[in-house]
Amino acid sequence: MILAVTMNPSVDISYPIQDFKLDQVNRVEHVRKTAGGKGLNVARVIKQMGEDVLATGLLGGAIGDFIIQELMKSEIKHDFFRINQESRNCIAILHDGQQTEILESGPTLSMEEGEAFLEKYREQLSEASIVTISGSLPKGLDCGYYRQMVEMGREKGVPVIVDTSGEALRQVLFHQVKPFAIKPNIDELSQLLNVKVEGSISSLKHLLSNELFQGIEWIVVSMGRDGAFVKHGEEYYRVTIPRIDVVNPVGSGDATVAGLAVALNRKQTVQDVLKTAMTTGMLNTMEAGTGYINLAKFGQLLELVKVKKV
Ligand code: ADP
Repeated sequence: MILAVTMNPSVDISYPIQDFKLDQVNRVEHVRKTAGGKGLNVARVIKQMGEDVLATGLLGGAIGDFIIQELMKSEIKHDFFRINQESRNCIAILHDGQQTEILESGPTLSMEEGEAFLEKYREQLSEASIVTISGSLPKGLDCGYYRQMVEMGREKGVPVIVDTSGEALRQVLFHQVKPFAIKPNIDELSQLLNVKVEGSISSLKHLLSNELFQGIEWIVVSMGRDGAFVKHGEEYYRVTIPRIDVVNPVGSGDATVAGLAVALNRKQTVQDVLKTAMTTGMLNTMEAGTGYINLAKFGQLLELVKVKKV
């Protein structure tokens, strides 16, 4: 079973408003509300890939209830730690080809709540064959929290894939016990290394040879329409993808993590792991909904992904 962790889930609300006016009343007809948070996108894609997945993390209040209902509709197994505060809403106003976002920062957790979740996670690890940890940490938790989760996975022999950014990622990497895989995009890599990363093979090779990444089995640097650059063990790969018609790229990094987890769980070859991860990412961009893929197109797209050792 794949364990998909979301520590700060949300209900994502989108308001399409043709002619958005500031300081006036704007009415909206077609409201869309989905269970959001990066880890929930990951869980949805894993489920659609036909793999056994358990969604976990922390949630609370009526918003938490809504998230559970949505997971039940998608028949995704879930076992969240309930908190006494309300989970958050994230609002996107879609207007004139633009997207204005209003993101609640969400609940502030106590140390005790953080500890209690770790106990639950420890039990869940016994059932898990691989773990994905996605997104930001809620306020109140120490920025080394994911580092602890990686360490606990290592103790139980369960590989952990981490997809986060900023200080939480830095803390995970500046530690002897490394995650099994990470999936930064170019911006996250730039932020992490404090340099402006450009996409050439030689510079990426140089950057990923940094000691910081030693001991991480898979580093998948996703590059949007340009595919990915990957370090696996001591080998480097450039992965290129076909041109496709993009409908909505939001969540494609999460779909990539889902594909990575599924392929690793199935013990696929290096080529197939990378092709699967790229294909689930692409399939997500071809759908309007975040964290949705059309599996019927999987095989034909997978054939068009090229993996080259560099
Ligand atoms: P993130 O959402 O984390 O920034 P990326 O934008 O790099 O991640 O996207 C992850 C993967 O999704 C890419 O490696 C690629 O396979 C696919 N993808 C994303 N954007 C596009 C695009 N415009 N065209 C084709 N594939 C895309």
